[in-house]
Amino acid sequence: MTKETGTSKPGAREIMKRLTQDYYGEAARARQEGRRVAYTTAVSPAELFVAHDVIPVYPENHAVMCIMRRMTPTLSAAIEKKGYTTHLCAYARSDLGYRELDESPIGGLPDPDFLLACNAQCFTLTKWFEVLSRRYQAPLFVLDTPQYIRNDKARRNIIRYVEAQIYELIGALEDLTGRRFDFDRLREVLTLSREACRLYKEFLDLARHRPSPISIFDVLIHMAIIVYLRGTPQAVDYYQTLLEEIRTEKVAKGIGVINNERFRLYWENLPVWFKFREHSELLSSYGAVILTSLYVHAWSYDFDPSDPIRSLAENYTGVFSNVELEERAEMALDLFRRYALNGNIMFLNRSCKAVTFGEHELREILTRETGVPALVFESDMGDPRFYSEVQVKTRLQAYFESLERLNI
Ligand code: SF4
Repeated sequence: MTKETGTSKPGAREIMKRLTQDYYGEAARARQEGRRVAYTTAVSPAELFVAHDVIPVYPENHAVMCIMRRMTPTLSAAIEKKGYTTHLCAYARSDLGYRELDESPIGGLPDPDFLLACNAQCFTLTKWFEVLSRRYQAPLFVLDTPQYIRNDKARRNIIRYVEAQIYELIGALEDLTGRRFDFDRLREVLTLSREACRLYKEFLDLARHRPSPISIFDVLIHMAIIVYLRGTPQAVDYYQTLLEEIRTEKVAKGIGVINNERFRLYWENLPVWFKFREHSELLSSYGAVILTSLYVHAWSYDFDPSDPIRSLAENYTGVFSNVELEERAEMALDLFRRYALNGNIMFLNRSCKAVTFGEHELREILTRETGVPALVFESDMGDPRFYSEVQVKTRLQAYFESLERLNI
């Protein structure tokens, strides 16, 4: 999609490559520079680390890189020998396998000085991080975010409970570094994070154009920066450049990501990471493009720097994986309306029980409310041993034929 411009101004992809190298380089040098590294989960108040000059490192992101390089079957086999089951999330299997074999697409991750597991995503992460905490003898902080049920009184109590833990976490960071936490610096970081998230959401919303200049495959590439660099000026600059580039090169010229856009699809769950390109090509042969999902919107936070702790608590507790099914369905229906979607692929991801749980009920609600039938298929986001090429191709063909028949 985006390309290097060939002028003196670097394009978004070039900037992303440099930012990624700088970020991992900085994390690798942390120890020799007297800085600390914290492993943290993708949905967690990482702004606290940025504000306290502790480098947040995301084992989930590294696991995605292992999956994309198709290393997961080998890494997983190494820990299966030790008794871990293939029913465990492919991120956890890739990560624990990497630590067993010391095989990594980027030369590995630095050891952690501290770990934070926020359970707004799932409980697997907590157990996985417990294993890492024991392995590296580094303290683990579990940030418990109860399900964000729709009841004003309950929500006030939940937020108070999460806020109290965030203050405890700040105390733990002060113990780790021997430095006082700077709340003014946290407000600055949250201001940057809010701006990066706003720009990231604008980027996601480019898919409202018809034809859409981006697909979810572009989003999955460009979302890496919002996951590991939010709270920094680099993330803000990056999304500004990206937006400008797409608006100039695609939107202004009415160029779509595919030539013959006919079906604008919603995708439920995480992606099948190792099938990125093939899925994109296969779908475009039907005039279909996946535009969005709740997963990619999980980083569209809206912080209020004037009330930083409450704002962190609300944003990280209210993520789609931690709300009631009805609210999650409303979030998805909002995407159907705003992006004018007329197709729905629902992936039952055997790796991720947390997001897959309730998906059949979700399908019923979405189909009832939109009139758009859904294609449901089961596989694994990271392990090709559980992916059937033939099944997916046949199901997709039948699905698009039925959408044509229904004249959707
Ligand atoms: S993919 Fe699902 S199970 Fe795996 S770490 Fe993420 S939320 Fe947890």
